[in-house]
Amino acid sequence: MSDLNDLYQQVIIDHGRKPRNFGKLANANHIKEGYNPLCGDKLTVYLREENNQIIEAQFEGEGCAISMASASLMTEALKNKTLAEAEILFGAFHELLTNDGDEDEKLGKLLVLAGVKEYPMRVKCATLCWHTARAAWKNEDVTVSTEL
Ligand code: ZN
Repeated sequence: MSDLNDLYQQVIIDHGRKPRNFGKLANANHIKEGYNPLCGDKLTVYLREENNQIIEAQFEGEGCAISMASASLMTEALKNKTLAEAEILFGAFHELLTNDGDEDEKLGKLLVLAGVKEYPMRVKCATLCWHTARAAWKNEDVTVSTEL
């Protein structure tokens, strides 16, 4: 198990240091900013959605390694998902980190973040990007803050 944890940790460190899909998405049609005042994580999620499918997902911002790694992994996971699938993924990920949810296999690579639930202060770092992305695809007219 500790080998697996090491592997998970390496993936998180790698994504935290070299976030994938980082930067502004010029043709995004859903954009939302999110803020986690507890840690200071701040990010903007950009989505390009066509016919209820997420074609592109990118983000930019700054924050702790967990917040950057989670956003990086999320943008990879959301690409080519329908909005219905993205909604299911959001639910499964949220359950995993807040409610002792199952290690649902549909979460795929996102499961590397399962260990974050051992650190309650860090859960908001990992879920910020998801709350932000969901507000983006649902066109919610709010600024996302994990304190709301
Ligand atoms: Zn953080």
